[in-house]
Amino acid sequence: MKRTQYAVIGLGRFGSSLAKELVKLGHEVLGIDQDEEAVDEMSEVLTHVVVADSTDEEVLRSLGIRNFDCVVVAIGSDIQASILTAILLKDVGVKKVVAKALSELHGKVLNKIGVDRVIYPERDMGIRVAHQLVSPNLLDFIELSKDYTIAELAVPKRMSGWTLRDLNLRAKYGCSVVAINKKQGVIIAPTAVDILEEQDIMVVIGTNAQIELFEHDIA
Ligand code: ADP
Repeated sequence: MKRTQYAVIGLGRFGSSLAKELVKLGHEVLGIDQDEEAVDEMSEVLTHVVVADSTDEEVLRSLGIRNFDCVVVAIGSDIQASILTAILLKDVGVKKVVAKALSELHGKVLNKIGVDRVIYPERDMGIRVAHQLVSPNLLDFIELSKDYTIAELAVPKRMSGWTLRDLNLRAKYGCSVVAINKKQGVIIAPTAVDILEEQDIMVVIGTNAQIELFEHDIA
């Protein structure tokens, strides 16, 4: 895999965690923050770190920011700094700018500026945790569209030992099991004779309503 060069601006809780994980995944990361302490904390972990104000165009140019494959603006609470930084990054020609938004309005402005991807970590994590609290078997989910979801669900004890044919989930709920993650490996596109066991994780696709009903019934 090609080592991608990332720059993360703002090494607060979100930015530092993101930057660390990118390094763990084998990529080069430049961390930028105006706060010396935040930069010091990350100096051993990231490929490069620099104390700088990202709202200063000259500073961004001198860092050669336009040569990075992707720049993440992880400044949240200072909305003005976040927006100014994003404008400057697009202006100097950064290929891919990702920015964190704290509110819908903040996100709207970032979209208008032409940011390639706006993320809402707090909003999305809130939604995720709510789903997981309501459905204890739900491990993770991806919203494919407004109507369709893929969910990762822990197989409950009472479904253990049954084949997909026995369980007849498509007829009962309308949703399909597209993979079963077992200790021994993943079964992609399982057939009617594949058996579910406790400890397995099933990956289920369906409409939001079908998945919700299924989650509710196995909770
Ligand atoms: P989190 O909620 O993830 O901790 P914050 O918005 O509180 O996010 O922190 C963002 C970080 O961005 C802080 O460490 C702050 O010093 C840094 N920051 C804010 N404005 C700038 C700027 N203009 N240039 C560089 N870093 C900045």
